[in-house]
Amino acid sequence: MIPQEKYRRELEVAVESAIYASKLCMSVQKDFLNRDTKSSGTANKNDTSPVTIADFGAQAIINMHILENFPSDRIVGEENASILRDNRTLGREVTNRVTSVIGNYSETEIFKAIDRGNFEGGRSQRFWAIDPIDGTKGFLRGEQYAIAIGLIEEGQVVFGLLACPNLKYSDTQTGYIAFAIRNHGAYSLPLMGDGSGMAKTNDIESASEIHVSQVEKPEEAWFVESVESAHSSHSEAALIAERLGIVKPPVRIDSQAKYAIVARGDAPLYMRIPSKKGYIENIWDHAAGSIIVEEAGGRVTDIFGRELDFELGRKLINNKGILASNGKLHSAAVESISVVLNQHE
Ligand code: AMP
Ligand code: MG
Repeated sequence: MIPQEKYRRELEVAVESAIYASKLCMSVQKDFLNRDTKSSGTANKNDTSPVTIADFGAQAIINMHILENFPSDRIVGEENASILRDNRTLGREVTNRVTSVIGNYSETEIFKAIDRGNFEGGRSQRFWAIDPIDGTKGFLRGEQYAIAIGLIEEGQVVFGLLACPNLKYSDTQTGYIAFAIRNHGAYSLPLMGDGSGMAKTNDIESASEIHVSQVEKPEEAWFVESVESAHSSHSEAALIAERLGIVKPPVRIDSQAKYAIVARGDAPLYMRIPSKKGYIENIWDHAAGSIIVEEAGGRVTDIFGRELDFELGRKLINNKGILASNGKLHSAAVESISVVLNQHE
């Protein structure tokens, strides 16, 4: 049973935003996969990571919806519209995609909404942490990605929602929504509703509680990690798993879908072992996912076992890597990580 009062409107707004953003992302992904050229509709950011019209479009939709409902809230969003102001073709494509989902808005309004994701974060004010497409590389490959919406108050994540359009809800239904409210549990919903169209806010009533797995023995456990070895060291994770006594192979999945998988009990462990020295994680890559695992009964820390610190701005500057688990395997994993990484120093 979902709590009736606490963060109820925030939950509805997040579900609505995620459904519209998913609509846009699903149609762009379909069009990308059906075409010959791989270049149009995408650009590279300064750090060379890819960004697509769907990343911009989804952020516009989510930001607009949040600000219509909570005008004094602030937003930390991954994207900004500067690339679109330089690349008019891309800008027009984003505007067309957004208006085809939520109706007529001008390019100026859409760019302005995207730029409202520029809040610096911190502790002073309540804010949302948004990743319009987490796992853009997976999105471009036609694989997993997530729309991630977190809400942070006084440095603590109090609400989180992930929409994963390519993650199975059941054997017959593809499209998964997971959400969590601090101290009120974690839940899932099919993104595609009852089959007659996408989920609606009414469906929130029928959300079902999710729980982490109860696996305690390393020999029965396995872990999830990034597909991209540039985001997470596969080789060190393999050594850590071996030391822990895990014999099953890792499952590689893009995006915060990994958190959803741990939260619903499909994997007891998610390891994100830094592969680049000095890389600092973004808050929007972990806000929504981490509360969902915690509220499903699991634990989320960095690789040293430290709590994630969301009150220091747009990045997790006090943390290194990520360890999410069902709780039972957490301290053994921290221990193994420390031994293996010290040997590799
Ligand atoms: P994943 O799908 O788990 O590989 O994670 C995707 C996220 O990785 C993106 O949203 C990026 O913000 C983030 N990312 C980019 N570069 C790195 C890196 N060197 N190490 C860890 N994460 C990264
Ligand atoms: Mg991301």
